[in-house]
Amino acid sequence: MTTRPPSRQLGRERTALFRSLTFREHDTGSHPENAGRLVAIDTALERLDLLGGRPDIPFSAAPDDVLARVHDPRYIAGLREFSAQGGGWLDADTPVSPRSVDIAALAAGAGVAAVDAALDGRARRGFVLARPPGHHATPSRGMGFCLFNTVAVAAAHALDYGLDRVLIVDWDVHHGNGTQDAFYETDQVLFCSIHQWPLYPGTGAASERGNCRGAGYTMNVPLSPGADDNAYMEVFDQVILPAANAFQPQMVLISAGFDAHANDPLGSMQVTERGFGGLARRVVQIAENHADGRVVAFLEGGYDPMALAASVVATLAALDGEGASLFDALRSGDGETETRHDE
Ligand SMILES: [Zn+2]
Repeated sequence: MTTRPPSRQLGRERTALFRSLTFREHDTGSHPENAGRLVAIDTALERLDLLGGRPDIPFSAAPDDVLARVHDPRYIAGLREFSAQGGGWLDADTPVSPRSVDIAALAAGAGVAAVDAALDGRARRGFVLARPPGHHATPSRGMGFCLFNTVAVAAAHALDYGLDRVLIVDWDVHHGNGTQDAFYETDQVLFCSIHQWPLYPGTGAASERGNCRGAGYTMNVPLSPGADDNAYMEVFDQVILPAANAFQPQMVLISAGFDAHANDPLGSMQVTERGFGGLARRVVQIAENHADGRVVAFLEGGYDPMALAASVVATLAALDGEGASLFDALRSGDGETETRHDE
């Protein structure tokens, strides 16, 4: 057991959670991206007594002008019309139920509220546990289970507030093509994506590095199937970390998808929940070093309910400044936590 110096009580400032039962009402039927994902997460958080004692930050749906910082107003209007007429399938992967667009706007609003809370000090750390996910939604098109790009709207909100440099780390197993598109020509957002290659949506080659002022501010690290915790840590430490330190972000956002987990049915990677915790601790350290600790994670993919829940717990533990003990407790089922900090 080790203790931290009193000047930096990482674990004493608990992460705000942005949750709502409404996020379960995005009705996708038997699609892999379904409400059961949030049920599994909530069950784990309740079982480990991780819900109480946190900053309670209210949020509401992002209005269209806030969504329009990222999305084409014609896309927003068209999507609302599609939903109002009963919805259907936006493409072969992306279902839209009658309430889905309002719920996607609520997810974006949660991200905006998380950014506001980080900036005004009510909660420097947040975890947006919303659905639908967002990182495949481009400015003009929903795709890949995503309608509005929640993390991109949050980043745009931080820039609108007056920040100059926002870091987005995307560790979902799929490339965050929509987020990349949104910020491909700006030097105000450093977008770093680690993803399986080849895989949907087919973008994310290392040669995609940004354009114009944004040249060099998009960083893609495609990895072959089978990459494990060590491979991810190595990429993070050797590629992402130096770029992030040079960028000196004022706010750090994570597209936290957990479909690179070894048990995930959609990805072919070998990352464990412990690996996600290690990645999260690294991102928190970047935020501590440069951004006054401001970091907000956004749930993206992750389609094995147990693996997803364990990975969310591990990430939350890292955001809270805890070590690996919490998800060890989840695995053993006793729910007890230790104060050990192993990293
Ligand atoms: Zn994914």
